[in-house]
Amino acid sequence: MSKHFLLYFILLIGFISCRADKVIEKKYKTKYVIVLVVDGPRYSETWGDTSHQYIPFMSNVLAPQGVIHNQFYSLGDTYTTNGHAALSTGIYQSINNSGQELPIRPSFFQHWLKQHPEDKSLAWIITSKDKLEVLSNCTEYGWKDKFRPSVDCGNAGLSTGYRHDSITQMKVMSTLQNSHPKLLLVNYREPDFSGHAGNWKGYLKGILKTDEYVHAIWQFIQNDPFYKDNTTLFVTNDHGRHLDGISNGFVSHGDNCEGCRHINLYSFGPDFKKDLVSPINRNLVDVHATILELLHIRGSFTEGNVMTELFN
Ligand SMILES: [Zn+2]
Ligand SMILES: [Zn+2]
Repeated sequence: MSKHFLLYFILLIGFISCRADKVIEKKYKTKYVIVLVVDGPRYSETWGDTSHQYIPFMSNVLAPQGVIHNQFYSLGDTYTTNGHAALSTGIYQSINNSGQELPIRPSFFQHWLKQHPEDKSLAWIITSKDKLEVLSNCTEYGWKDKFRPSVDCGNAGLSTGYRHDSITQMKVMSTLQNSHPKLLLVNYREPDFSGHAGNWKGYLKGILKTDEYVHAIWQFIQNDPFYKDNTTLFVTNDHGRHLDGISNGFVSHGDNCEGCRHINLYSFGPDFKKDLVSPINRNLVDVHATILELLHIRGSFTEGNVMTELFN
């Protein structure tokens, strides 16, 4: 075999194997993703209540335009930081719930920012609970302190206390209008906050109020020239609360009971079906997997699966 022929042969094999490696990416209309997390309502006061009296906007306006999962769960520890970290990192980690520990894995924010250095200031975490600032970083080698999203958490960042959801809502609206984030995660402290205070009326009011906030953001997306027809919205929870008769009922959460595990998921976007209630059993990390798919984020490990049933 001549030297030239051998060289040609090696190049040809290289070319064929490169071609075989090339994954064909599906094209999606989604360019931007917004995840809204309503902290700690029970399924029984939201979608599980057939009157939907505490989620009128979600039930009457949003549901016909998107997909509801009625078998959606947290499979991790049913606390705030755990639920949020499962969404952002795609794995269930038993993480400290008071903001004293970073997630071990990089979030979809960090992966996305690494892939899109030109969009450095377009990933945001805006939360009523200050402790959720830990979602902006992780401990993994090569990722710690790198590719971090912008944060606006609690009164003035980690360890400064929770702020009222009305302030968070104002910050979300002004950030959407002024900074046009492409990737945004929001946390509302209600109805969890009133639940822990043992305030049943306040807990129900918290569900009603966050329903209103979610609707305002949904409406903004529908009417804003930047976000319209290219934005996917997920509305979910970090955990539920104990069923009546378990421990102190709606006041607390954190175990394996159906009330703590069974939560809500609403999905809306240009690539998703409309007016569908899906009975497929899904859980928090599947939202993460679906975001990776929509935004073509590569190289991230997740325990979740893409929710193919959502797609047109
Ligand atoms: Zn709580
Ligand atoms: Zn429970």
